[in-house]
Amino acid sequence: MSEHSPFDDDSEVAVTSESLRDDLLDAYPKKTRRKREKQVVVNHKQADESGLVSLPVIGANTRTIPGVITQRGCSYAGCKGVILGPTRDIVNITHGPIGCGFYSWLTRRNQTLAPTDEHDNFMPYCFSTDMQDENIIFGGEKKLAKAIEEAYELFKPKAIAVFSTCPVGLIGDDVHQVAAEMKEKLGINVFGFSCEGYKGVSQSAGHHIANNQIFKHVVGEDDTKRGKWSINLLGEYNIGGDAFLIEDLLQRCGIDLVATFSGNSTYDQFANSHMAQLNCVMCHRSINYVADMMEKKYGPPWIKVNFIGAKATAKSLRKIAEYFDDQELTEKVEAVISEEYPAVFEAQKTYKPRCEGKRAMLFVGGSRAHHYQELFAELGMKTIAAGYEFAHRDDYEGRDVLPDIKVDADSRNIEELHVDADPDHYRGDDRAKAIERERAGYKFKEYDGLMADMPERALVIDDINHHESEELIRRMKPDIFCAGIKEKYAVQKMGVPCKQLHSYDYGGPYAGFQGAINFYKEIDRMVNAKVWSMIQPPWSDQADQNAPSSSSIRREG
Ligand code: SF4
Repeated sequence: MSEHSPFDDDSEVAVTSESLRDDLLDAYPKKTRRKREKQVVVNHKQADESGLVSLPVIGANTRTIPGVITQRGCSYAGCKGVILGPTRDIVNITHGPIGCGFYSWLTRRNQTLAPTDEHDNFMPYCFSTDMQDENIIFGGEKKLAKAIEEAYELFKPKAIAVFSTCPVGLIGDDVHQVAAEMKEKLGINVFGFSCEGYKGVSQSAGHHIANNQIFKHVVGEDDTKRGKWSINLLGEYNIGGDAFLIEDLLQRCGIDLVATFSGNSTYDQFANSHMAQLNCVMCHRSINYVADMMEKKYGPPWIKVNFIGAKATAKSLRKIAEYFDDQELTEKVEAVISEEYPAVFEAQKTYKPRCEGKRAMLFVGGSRAHHYQELFAELGMKTIAAGYEFAHRDDYEGRDVLPDIKVDADSRNIEELHVDADPDHYRGDDRAKAIERERAGYKFKEYDGLMADMPERALVIDDINHHESEELIRRMKPDIFCAGIKEKYAVQKMGVPCKQLHSYDYGGPYAGFQGAINFYKEIDRMVNAKVWSMIQPPWSDQADQNAPSSSSIRREG
């Protein structure tokens, strides 16, 4: 195991991960420090005599400390914005003040492509009950029922979903009862989500609430049989058009994509998704439990995949082909990889020498901070610090720690569905195939987490806040910082380019082979732009000069 810190290669920076961690934590009062120190860890991997590597324990999925400026979103944002946001033909009505609805209205730049203009596409709309003071005082159920009726009259959708925001939970409107009554009255599927912003410690709670309701109310409604190599893609949200590139690759390989949860998705795809033979999980955090529930109820096993990075894409396509164990599919997959790779190599030849050795920090999402490290590695760039906004310990340390994760009061707040095998729809043949493949050494349900792939002694920080981001940038001066819109301009004022990885700014797509090339170009443009060296960071004229000055650690492009 390497004893080198990711910072060792920069002789100008006399700072270790350990000392930097101490400095970050020293700013806090005692009680706050006790909480934060569990979430800020140095990735010190220890191998025993047999070579078994153990990772540090990280605190995750705990409440943000009041007073710090977190990157997180609320539970409603996770439910409506992340999971249901990319569905195009479900009318999503936010029951609450308009501010909440605006917050989750296409803020992630999900894209969708209806086959023709005649097909439903409600994504550009923001549906809200626009609650006012009198609704808070006298209740908003009648207003909600009217809104559902109005949406039905105007759009005639297959389904309407209703999302509760904080005020609704506080006054006690029963959105589920209203939804059930309207389902009866209108004859379409109407269902609700108790996803009030305060429901969990982060947007992760909202993902869980969203997926549970889709699983309960939609999955399993359509038993139409599918092609001979059929999969679902779970945890891919079609930011910047990623799903379009992945769909194209799968189609060229002859793989039948039944449903994506939920990028470029439709109601009918969710309804038929249980007929897929294999579930492929992209974002482990937001959806691994749907893969588990589907396996228990219907039989298809699941694997972890990653379509971010050319190498990762090739590996994932090969892993899917290996599962089906069919010569024809294997040949098709290899043919597609061979067609795509020359352009990737060509682009690497151009961009790698310009980016090699530069350093990135990634603080995004619940898998993106892991997946994007593969793309940076393809450019020869090192990730010196990373962490998630809303992950749980297994996303950092791998699924082996699942039995050790304590269920706290916040997690108990989220309904855990009890799922049994469906007597009519459970497909024993999928299960039998999985057992046979497992015996041959094929790995299912496997995810080693972010820390296993992070450099030795890199800093791993859960739920990073503004103070910590600013200190990391001030002390380490990375060449690029990846985050979201809330951080973007603060980071850039410090003279460091910030790449949004929740919405891709105006760039992307970055998935698959073509997406990797797009990313190389974009990162080269960002890390080599001279403009960053012309910006005076706010601390440059501050009296406190304990830390190395920005000029002493600047790495000129
Ligand atoms: S925290 Fe509550 S009030 Fe704020 S956006 Fe989320 S649901 Fe709306």
